Amino acid sequence: MESFSSIKDIKNKISQWKSEGYSIGFVPTMGYLHEGHTSLIQRAKKDNDKVIVSIFVNPTQFGPNEDLDNYPRDLERDTELCTANGGDVIFTPSAKEMYGDNPCAYVDIKELSQELCGASRPGHFRGVCTVVLKLFNIITPDRAYFGEKDAQQLAIIKKMVLDLNLPVEIIGCPIVREADGLAKSSRNTYLSNEQRKAAVVLSQSLALAKTSLENGERDANKIISIINEKISSEPLAKVDYIQVVDLKSLKTVNSITDDILVAIAVHFDKTRLIDNFSFQIKK
Ligand code: AMP
Repeated sequence: MESFSSIKDIKNKISQWKSEGYSIGFVPTMGYLHEGHTSLIQRAKKDNDKVIVSIFVNPTQFGPNEDLDNYPRDLERDTELCTANGGDVIFTPSAKEMYGDNPCAYVDIKELSQELCGASRPGHFRGVCTVVLKLFNIITPDRAYFGEKDAQQLAIIKKMVLDLNLPVEIIGCPIVREADGLAKSSRNTYLSNEQRKAAVVLSQSLALAKTSLENGERDANKIISIINEKISSEPLAKVDYIQVVDLKSLKTVNSITDDILVAIAVHFDKTRLIDNFSFQIKK
């Protein structure tokens, strides 16, 4: 497994691969890899000759009171997991390497960034879009892989690629879960034993909502109530948001007539967890 932290070096490697005619798949991550990340790497390896995994805890997507300094890191283990799952190269730039001294340019997909996680994390998606565009410019991948776990992020990246005519195909990959249903996340490591047990309420509440939709419920407020009731039954859980939005525009819907995303964010003390599912309306 080769690892590069300089933009110049990784670009040289990519030029070499491109001159040999290899296709390139790219998996951007913040590291502390788990099976959610490795599922993206495996899928990228299936679709491409070479796979680049970036590990960069991007400071510009963290708010002032968020967990940037405490975000879990383990490069040695990440390198092993990348190798074992088909990664060819790891890119681990420093913040200085990525942003230089006085960055002024940024990308902001405002339309899709203000709802859901954007409401409680102002500036988050601007940081995400800016770093992802920079990484796309450096790596020039044929395809890039993102998890449906971060459904809003996936929708925003797809829109950025469409609006800015970026020559990369965006592939969304399904949520990987723990045995009890909790969506895998690097942030799950913050949970105490008690909180970890309680966190199953996220996926359980979504399962109830999904059943109700499958049984024909089309009132978004009823779906929200079902989720809220379940989460409220867990004393350690505090709802950040429960929303039913249009799958493409991410705008709130009241009556469900088109494909939707049901998304939630829940606090366990300082740890904020997200989960979601999309629901297609048969026409
Ligand atoms: P992160 O390191 O949290 O920035 O995540 C990097 C990528 O992995 C993003 O595209 C995430 O959506 C994806 N990802 C994180 N957790 C999961 C999961 N449980 N299942 C599928 N993809 C995931």
